[in-house]
Amino acid sequence: MTEIDVVIIGAGHNGLTCAAYLAKAGLRVRVVERRKVVGGAAVTEEFHPGFRNSVAAYTVSLLNPKIIADLKLAEHGLTIVERRAQNFLPAPDGTSLLTGEGRTKAAVAKLSVHDAEALDGFSRRLETIADVLREFVLRAPPNLVEGFGAGAIREAFNALGTANILRNLSLEQQRDLLDLFTRSAGEMLDERFEHDLVKAVFGFDAIVGNYASPYAAGSAYVMLHHAFGEVNGKKGVWGHAIGGMGAIGQAMARAAREAGAEISCEAGVREVIVEKERAAGVVLNNGETIRARYVASNVNPKLLYTQLMPADALTEDFRVRMQRWRNGSGTFRMNVALSALPSFTALPGNGDHLTAGIIIAPSLTYMDRAWQDARDHGWSRAPEVEVLIPSTLDDTLAPEGAHVASLFCQHVAPELPDGKSWDDHREEVADLMIATVDQYAPGFAASAVGRQILSPLDLERQFGLLGGDIFHGALSLNQLFSARPILGHADYRGPLEGLYHCGAGAHPGGGVTGAPGHNAARAILADHRALFKSRG
Ligand SMILES: Cc1cc2nc3c(=O)[nH]c(=O)nc-3n(C[C@H](O)[C@H](O)[C@H](O)COP(=O)(O)OP(=O)(O)OC[C@H]3O[C@@H](n4cnc5c(N)ncnc54)[C@H](O)[C@@H]3O)c2cc1C
Repeated sequence: MTEIDVVIIGAGHNGLTCAAYLAKAGLRVRVVERRKVVGGAAVTEEFHPGFRNSVAAYTVSLLNPKIIADLKLAEHGLTIVERRAQNFLPAPDGTSLLTGEGRTKAAVAKLSVHDAEALDGFSRRLETIADVLREFVLRAPPNLVEGFGAGAIREAFNALGTANILRNLSLEQQRDLLDLFTRSAGEMLDERFEHDLVKAVFGFDAIVGNYASPYAAGSAYVMLHHAFGEVNGKKGVWGHAIGGMGAIGQAMARAAREAGAEISCEAGVREVIVEKERAAGVVLNNGETIRARYVASNVNPKLLYTQLMPADALTEDFRVRMQRWRNGSGTFRMNVALSALPSFTALPGNGDHLTAGIIIAPSLTYMDRAWQDARDHGWSRAPEVEVLIPSTLDDTLAPEGAHVASLFCQHVAPELPDGKSWDDHREEVADLMIATVDQYAPGFAASAVGRQILSPLDLERQFGLLGGDIFHGALSLNQLFSARPILGHADYRGPLEGLYHCGAGAHPGGGVTGAPGHNAARAILADHRALFKSRG
């Protein structure tokens, strides 16, 4: 039994970020991870002999530039490259839209002059509010506190800082902000654009990881959430980590270890130790006890509070609310080993479009129907599939001449209706996803020589993502900002002394951002310094 400063439950990229900052500040840190590898949902594995790919998360944009710089991730081996085009949307009638730097407006104009004229205004509005979000990403949101203690003073300052950011917005921009936080993406896009593919390229971001229609209130926020990133200084752009997303976790682990953190794999936590209403350490599945001054949790909040904490350590209200925490992003993920690159009917042959996120979801109506069908049937018979072929940018993933594709499929039920199990339907749905791509790129199915399938149930089993939720909890207004993971605990501090949230279940939520890990480390360090100051 050893006493250390911090034990972190989970070596997802946020746990690793938190560990690196804390170890750099001189704290004794140990990270304990249930799986054999670090990185959580940001991992690269060989899924078919000779073919490696990002297993779950597959594309990078949201990873915060300050964190990349502070942890010297480039020096620790991380290289992020841009796609040569951002998105390619083929339509069944043979038309298509290819977006990217310097080409979007002309491509939209070919489909609709009206939409090309509306594009700059909409993009500017989205970008302005994305900038606001960027300012909030590395800040704790205003937290509701009871009483007039030190916490209340800290929050008064925090609220002032928040107000200052918002005060810099004009009234018109504040109205845009309200729209983007509360409205449906579908309505906002229908108001501005007329062509299906133009609406779809924005609208797809509103349903990624969001088990809801693009016409559901709040879906505009999910669209915004996918827009606050950047690649190598270019805002809103998505790119690729050479070696796959695992390169991010590996670089973070190197940074954390170099700063002195210890990282143990195959070291799942069975229980958080609670003593005198304080988190005092963890017990591992193998029986090892690790005592620590602070416990930081990188796992989904519902998992933490309903599976790893003694029930009597929490108030009834807190426990019940955590049981009701809404999980289930409705996503189905595949990796496919390809003997050849696909050729799309709408744009045959090789080209920059094969480096893009290829979106098979040609209209908002298609997405709305897919969601309705998934609700009734468990998955949509006309599904939405994003195809990304990272081997077009990275020759470390597949044998020469061969390729790997990530398929990210939206709107499958987290739990199937009528008592059906994903264990009985995984292969059937995987066949459907491949056949769907094949409709747009004939020959795709024949070129698939191997595949890895992750249904929502598989995501839960492999990664601890409850309900397969890619964000550790829906990005709905009642689970965002000051309410993430629950009102009163948005400052990364849990309901017990010594307990902290450092994963995607805390602000700013899911995605490979590093932000919750960064912000939690700041809260732990502030408390640590206050403790030693008070002891003189
Ligand atoms: C299929 C899929 C596709 C995605 N695509 C993208 C994308 O392209 N781009 C993007 O930015 N984001 C994407 N995301 C979202 C993003 O990957 C996640 O939101 C993010 O990785 C969460 O990071 P985290 O460190 O907070 O948690 P996680 O990555 O979930 O890490 C938590 C860690 O805790 C471990 N753990 C669980 N239980 C225990 C226990 N009892 N004891 C010890 N350890 C435990 C887990 O094994 C895991 O390693 C995707 C996610 C998924 C699942």
